Amino acid sequence: TSSLRINNVSKIYNGSITALSEVNLDIPEGEFVSFVGPSGCGKSTIFKIIAGLSEPTSGRVEMINASNQETMIDRNDVGFVFQHATLLPWKSVLDNVTLPLELKGVSKHERHERGKEVLEMVGLAGYEKALPRQLSGGMQMRVSIARSLIAKPKLLLMDEPFGALDEMTRQNLHYELLKIWEKTGMTVLFITHNVFESVFLSTKIAVMSTRPGRITNVFDVPEYERDE
Ligand code: ADP
Ligand code: ADP
Repeated sequence: TSSLRINNVSKIYNGSITALSEVNLDIPEGEFVSFVGPSGCGKSTIFKIIAGLSEPTSGRVEMINASNQETMIDRNDVGFVFQHATLLPWKSVLDNVTLPLELKGVSKHERHERGKEVLEMVGLAGYEKALPRQLSGGMQMRVSIARSLIAKPKLLLMDEPFGALDEMTRQNLHYELLKIWEKTGMTVLFITHNVFESVFLSTKIAVMSTRPGRITNVFDVPEYERDE
């Protein structure tokens, strides 16, 4: 199988702030990896670099295929979910979710078919015509997740997606997310401050430290911890 390789990545902002220092990690396809660590240790920075939204100062992030060849990450294969549901308030749930396909010029019929499919995956079938403000915070997060899934990413990056939600809502979303992960087989990278959340959800936990930002430990999570 292939893997994602973070290869000696450093990031220095403005020539002075070392956000990441020689970070290395291999992530086999299909893993669910949580990144935990104090504020400012570079979690968001490494995600932006993986997503291609930011350039590393040195080092690189690449895919290693089954024949051990390096390839670039195709940005079309990457989905991103942010802490706050960044939905367009004047657009319906369905139009929000299908926006990435609209930008790619996919036909309306196909957009709607696929939009209904992903809304069903996140438990929001029937809410196509609703506006974001009519939904609870947890439901808005589900819409954001649906939108991140619409182009069938192989890699999903989630930057503290459930941090702003109450405990019950968060737990429900944990189960939904694990179902989606199992169904799609995609690789999920997940930032959290919540160690319980990381243990419950992930196959591996990457612990980061600050000054300079580094991965100091990587743990495998035993399966029974995850399945409750
Ligand atoms: P985390 O997500 O773990 O809180 P970040 O990746 O946001 O950490 O930030 C890592 C370090 O880099 C922090 O010191 C932060 O202030 C700094 N930083 C992040 N983004 C920028 C930026 N665009 N310009 C300058 N410094 C930044
Ligand atoms: P996070 O939620 O990851 O901690 P922050 O609130 O630290 O993010 O930062 C929000 C935004 O500001 C991010 O896009 C980050 O890259 C940028 N940023 C963070 N620190 C700095 C900084 N010292 N200078 C400039 N931009 C920064």
